[in-house]
Amino acid sequence: MSTALLEVKQLTVGYGAAPVLHEVDLTIGEGQIVAVLGANGAGKTTLLRAISNMLPITAGTAKFDGIDLKPVKVERMVRHGIAHVPEGRGVVTELTVEENLRLGGLWRKGKPDLDEVYDLFPAIANRRNHLGHQLSGGERQMLAIGRALVAKPRLLLLDEPSLGLAPKITAQIMGLLRDLRDRTGLAVLLVEQNVRSALSVADEGVVLNLGRVVTRQKADTLADDADLRHAYLGF
Ligand code: ATP
Repeated sequence: MSTALLEVKQLTVGYGAAPVLHEVDLTIGEGQIVAVLGANGAGKTTLLRAISNMLPITAGTAKFDGIDLKPVKVERMVRHGIAHVPEGRGVVTELTVEENLRLGGLWRKGKPDLDEVYDLFPAIANRRNHLGHQLSGGERQMLAIGRALVAKPRLLLLDEPSLGLAPKITAQIMGLLRDLRDRTGLAVLLVEQNVRSALSVADEGVVLNLGRVVTRQKADTLADDADLRHAYLGF
């Protein structure tokens, strides 16, 4: 069992007075890929936002490598080793691929190494002078992940990478995540509606329902649990 890189304890958070997440516990170890699953509105995106400090935590804690994240400003998260790729990707469509990648290095000390990202994603290496809006959905997702990787995170928070992508491209991206983890020890907290593809890459899955953790299990076990799948994952 690996030691926890991220440790979320009894996290309660919401957008107003009413909490969306209730007393959520979650840990992720170095090099682990954990999928966060659940129906629409279960609180998956909210969980990533809370870890990144985009939302004020009402109660509970989130610690990274033993450090309390509460006082860490959103833009400083990357210096602490956490990169967040939001749903919808957040690529700046008026900038080129290369310019977008350089943005990823802004909060990181030293010169960003874009070649590593280009090696990982040859599809965007071939389009480095193209503007964001000229890219396909899959290329934009690769660019968004690539931009996060420029900051050399130890933990990647990845929200719905499969959204709007063809199954073949989704499979390619999931495969790359696993390769990356195997090569670099990157930990990934992966939010996905596409349960099958998330479980194909994750080591473990956490199921959220109405803002509470229902269960956490090995990915294979979850994929085989028909009752759980029917109750919370819709297949
Ligand atoms: P989806 O896959 O549909 O995005 P999710 O599991 O990621 O679902 P969240 O987006 O975290 O769910 O939403 C959880 C709850 O918080 C929902 O009831 C949603 O309506 C509410 N919510 C989300 N964003 C906001 C916001 N900006 N302001 C107020 N309520 C919000």
